Amino acid sequence: MSLPSEGTRAEELTVNDLDDTTEQPDNVLGQQYEYKIRPCIDLIDSLRSLGVEKDLALPVIAVIGDHSSGKRSVLEALSGVNLPRGSDIVTRCPLVLKLKKSKKDLPWKGKISYQDQDVELQNPGEVEKEIRKAQDYMAGAGNGVSQDLITLAIESANVPDLTLLDLPGITRVALPNQPRDIGGQIKKMIREYINRQETINLAVVPSNVDIATTEALKMARVVDPDGERTLGILTKPDLVDKGSELDVVSVVQNQVCTLKKGYMIVKCRGQSEIQNNIFLEDALLNERAFFENHEHFGALLEEGRATIPLLAEKLTLELVEHISRSIPALETQLKTRLLEAEKKLKLIGAGVPESESEKLIFLINRIQHFGKGINQVIQGEEEVIGNSQKLFTQIRTNFDKWEKKLEECIYNFRMDLPLYRGREPTGFVNYKTFENIARSQVQTFEEPAIDTLNEISELVRSTFNDIALKHFCHYHNLYSSAKGKLEEICSDQQKEAEKEIHRQFKREQIIYCRDNLYTAPQSYVQRNTSSTFFDQETLKTPKTNVEMSVELMSQHMQEYLKTMTARLSKQIPLIILHCMLHECADKLEAQMLLLLQDKENINMLLVEKEDLVRERQNLNDQIKRLQAAQKRVAKFPYK
Ligand code: GDP
Ligand code: MG
Repeated sequence: MSLPSEGTRAEELTVNDLDDTTEQPDNVLGQQYEYKIRPCIDLIDSLRSLGVEKDLALPVIAVIGDHSSGKRSVLEALSGVNLPRGSDIVTRCPLVLKLKKSKKDLPWKGKISYQDQDVELQNPGEVEKEIRKAQDYMAGAGNGVSQDLITLAIESANVPDLTLLDLPGITRVALPNQPRDIGGQIKKMIREYINRQETINLAVVPSNVDIATTEALKMARVVDPDGERTLGILTKPDLVDKGSELDVVSVVQNQVCTLKKGYMIVKCRGQSEIQNNIFLEDALLNERAFFENHEHFGALLEEGRATIPLLAEKLTLELVEHISRSIPALETQLKTRLLEAEKKLKLIGAGVPESESEKLIFLINRIQHFGKGINQVIQGEEEVIGNSQKLFTQIRTNFDKWEKKLEECIYNFRMDLPLYRGREPTGFVNYKTFENIARSQVQTFEEPAIDTLNEISELVRSTFNDIALKHFCHYHNLYSSAKGKLEEICSDQQKEAEKEIHRQFKREQIIYCRDNLYTAPQSYVQRNTSSTFFDQETLKTPKTNVEMSVELMSQHMQEYLKTMTARLSKQIPLIILHCMLHECADKLEAQMLLLLQDKENINMLLVEKEDLVRERQNLNDQIKRLQAAQKRVAKFPYK
C-alpha cells in the first residue's frame, strides 16, 4: 500500500476549520488510498464484534498514558465527545473507540455496547454518563478495573476514520476505595495488549516532564525495544517551561528517544478551558493558533508533526496500513485456530445421541471399547504413554522380587539344629527334625507371598481404573458405576487369591518329595567322603557322628528347599495372575454388560459432565465465529 509522503501531507493540511474536515481526507490521503480506509477498519471492527479477539490478537492502536498525562483529552479531541472525567482513574475497562466519518449532512450517531447491552445515544452529551454506567456495570461501582471491553461507536462528520483502544491510565497509588494492587492490575492489563505484535502502541506523554521517566514510554520500550510499533504523543505544549522548548522540539523531531513511527505534539484543553466550557471545536482552533504563533513549535506544525487533525490523519494512515499488512498473518491464524478447535471438538466427541435406541447402541459401544481396553492390558498389548510401563512389565518386576526372595532363602539357609531339636538325644537326627525345619522354612514365605499379592492387586486396580477413566471420563455416572464394580470385584478377587495362597501354604506343610531326590548320586557320595568326614581345617581330626549327620541333613535340606522354592516361584504368580488379572477382567466385563439390562438407567449413565457440555458449546461457538471471520477476510477485496 502506498502512503502519501510526510512532506506533502503537511502542506495540504493547512485547512483547520473542522467544518472542512469532511472533505479533508480526500485531499490528503488521495483518491487511490481513501477507498481502502473504511473497508479495512470495518473488517477488523466486524471481526472484533464477532468476538474473534478471544481467539487471536487483532491489529489495533492501543492508547496508554500515565495518570494525568492528557490521554483522555487527546481522545476527546479526536472523538469530539466529552469522556468521563474525575480525579480517580477514569478508564476502568478497556474502551474501544470506534470513530466513523460520515457525510457532512448526516446526523451524529452514537452507541455504547458492553456485554449484552446496546445503548443508542441521542447526542454527544450522553456519552459521559453512559460510559460511567457501563464501567460501573462491568467493573463494579467501586474503583476496580475489569478486562471486559466497552465499545463506544461514533458516526459523525467531525471524526476521523479510526478505531482506538483506550486502556486504563497507569496509576501508581491506589485511592482509599481501590484495591491496593490496582496499579499492578492495570499494568498487567496494559502489558497484555501492548505485548502483542498486532498492537500499535500510542504512548501519551506530557511535554513538560522528562519523557524518559514516564511509565507509558518505559512500558512500551520493554515490549518494543526498537520502537518499531510505538508512536509518541506529546501533550501540554503550553505548559513547557521557558527555555526548554527546544528540548521538546528535538523530542518531537525524533532525535532523543527514537521511535520508528516518530512523535506528534498536540495541545488540548487545559483545566481553565474546560472550566470556561470551551467547546472541543473551538479548542481545535485554539490549538491551531497556538502552534502557528509559537516561536519554537511553529516549525513542528510545518513539518506535519503537530495538532489533533494531523494526528488523526496519521493514526488513520498507520492503522489502515497496519491492518493491510496484518491480513495475511490473520488469515493464517484464523486457519490454525479453526483447525485446533475442530481437533479439540473431535477429541471430546459429538456427544450423546438423542433417541433411546441410539443411546443404547452408544452405551454398548462405550462398554465394548472399555472391554477392549482391559483385554489389551491382559494381553500385554496396551499403548503406553510417556514413561509409564505396561501392567505386565510392572507385574513382572514384582514377581522377580518374589523369586529373588526365594533364592535368597536357599542361599542364606544355615542349619541351626538346637532350634528344631525334639525329644531325641544329640546324635539322633531324625526325619521328624528334617520335617520341622522344612515346614518352618516354608512358613517364612507366606507373608512375602501375600505382600506380592497385595502389591499386584493395587497395580491391577489402578490400571483398570485408568482404563475406566479413559473410556468413561465424560460420563461421571458411568465412570462411578464402573469404579464401584471394579473396587468390589478387585477386593473379592483379592480375598479369593489370599485364600488360594493360604491353601497353597497349607499344602506345603506336607513335606513331600519324589524318592530320586535323595537317592544320592555318585558325586554326592564322593563329595561326602572326601571332604565331609574330616575337619576342613586340619584334615586330621575325623568329624563326629553328630557333625556328619548335621552336615548331611543340611545338604538334604538344601535340595528340598530348591524344589520347594522352584514350585512356589511359579505357583504363587499363577494364583495371582489367575485371580487378579484374568478372573477380575472377566467378571468386570460381565458386570459392565449387566448395566445394559436396566433400560431406566441408560439416560442416567450417559449424563455428560457439565464442563464437557460447556466446552463443546464453547468450541462450537468458536468454530462458528472463526468460520464467519474467515469468510469475511476471504471476501475482503483489498489484500
Ligand atoms: P489523563 O488522566 O491522562 O486522561 O489526562 P487528562 O486528559 O484528564 O488531563 C489531565 C489534565 O491535564 C486535565 O486537567 C487537562 O485539562 C489537562 N490537559 C490535558 N492536555 C492539556 C494541554 O494540552 N494543555 C494544558 N494546559 N492542559 C492540558
Ligand atoms: Mg485524568
